[in-house]
Amino acid sequence: MNNTNDSTTAPHLPTAAQAVEALRGCLDTLKVRRFLFGHLHSERASCPHCGVVVEGKAAVSFWEGRRVACKNCRHFFTAATGTAFSKSKLSDEQIFLLLACMGLDLDNRPAAAVIGVNASSVRENRQKIEALQKNEGGQENGRHGVSGIMQIGSQCR
Ligand SMILES: [Zn+2]
Repeated sequence: MNNTNDSTTAPHLPTAAQAVEALRGCLDTLKVRRFLFGHLHSERASCPHCGVVVEGKAAVSFWEGRRVACKNCRHFFTAATGTAFSKSKLSDEQIFLLLACMGLDLDNRPAAAVIGVNASSVRENRQKIEALQKNEGGQENGRHGVSGIMQIGSQCR
């Protein structure tokens, strides 16, 4: 193969893994949380203990991933309470990046490297996400999720 001039003249597109790695550096935490929790809760903020709808300032806190108290039953909770990710070792950004890696069909090892976690964490959380996607209508839901990731990615400057 003749590639003597390639390094200086040929355009080099990043690999999918490099693109996810770059995304990692420019994520907006609140936008990521709003996106993830919006999907997890079908855009409806409610108390995981009694089901009462969370409104006003508490709803803003809920979508931002902060702890809120239920006005009805007085339990404290966050948007992650009672979901598959309540005890996840991965941050919200890392779960978001894992979704991007899954959309790009990256294997666990390269996904773990670009997300910055170990492969067993990737495997464990991937199974949780796949179970959720199965429950919520499979491929259609998965596609919607990936398009949302692209939207957040497009806001990187
Ligand atoms: Zn409640």
